[in-house]
Amino acid sequence: MSKQNNKITSPLGVQRTVLVKELRSKGISDTNVLRAIETVHREAFLPAAMVSRAYEDTALPIDNKQTISQPYTVASMTQALRLEPQMKVLEIGTGSGYQAAILAEMGMHVFTIERHPILSQKAREVLAREGYNVNCRIGDGTIGYSAQAPYDAIIVTAGAPDVPETLAKQLKIGGRLAVPVGDKSSQQLYVVTRTADEKWDVLDLGPYKFVPLIGIEGWEDGR
Ligand code: SAH
Repeated sequence: MSKQNNKITSPLGVQRTVLVKELRSKGISDTNVLRAIETVHREAFLPAAMVSRAYEDTALPIDNKQTISQPYTVASMTQALRLEPQMKVLEIGTGSGYQAAILAEMGMHVFTIERHPILSQKAREVLAREGYNVNCRIGDGTIGYSAQAPYDAIIVTAGAPDVPETLAKQLKIGGRLAVPVGDKSSQQLYVVTRTADEKWDVLDLGPYKFVPLIGIEGWEDGR
């Protein structure tokens, strides 16, 4: 078989294309989001035992009892932010680094915060290896990252008890915050738009399931 044929039939490449079709059929239409999902190697962000399942549309376990979000969740949250290339985006909950890679692939300036140092370190290494320039920070993301505020968009990839006020205030006017809000087992995905200096609109995009957001403006650490 020629090299080119090998490339065309690369099993993971085919699986990525199938996943994109599946996401399109589930209502994802933002072409920049779909192109990023078709480009980013999700398998690189997974523990070795999970690699064969990289392109199933499901959340999968990573280290520290955390999860890499379902591709549909990543796609619908990212689409809801209505991003344009070059925007400044803050992610709370780096986890595996996959969502951050999707944002970077879409041409965003990405800052991401993770509370578990080991996860942050791993994500930083994988992102660099995969060629993504992402600013990875360790700490409590519920209080955002004021040094780089305001942001065009903020994406919280863990479930909060309420909309973290500090994050809402780190948005530009017109900026959007996607945050799952609810109890520890299930949440509604809110998209909060800052419409004026002291005014925010909230849109409810329906039910989702995330691991808890733990921090000053999140849940208390249950350990
Ligand atoms: N975006 C991730 C999914 C991560 S799961 C990905 O693409 O893989 C949610 C992550 O949020 C977990 O890694 C968890 O440790 C982290 N987290 C929870 N509370 C946090 C907080 N207050 N600040 C930063 N990270 C937090």
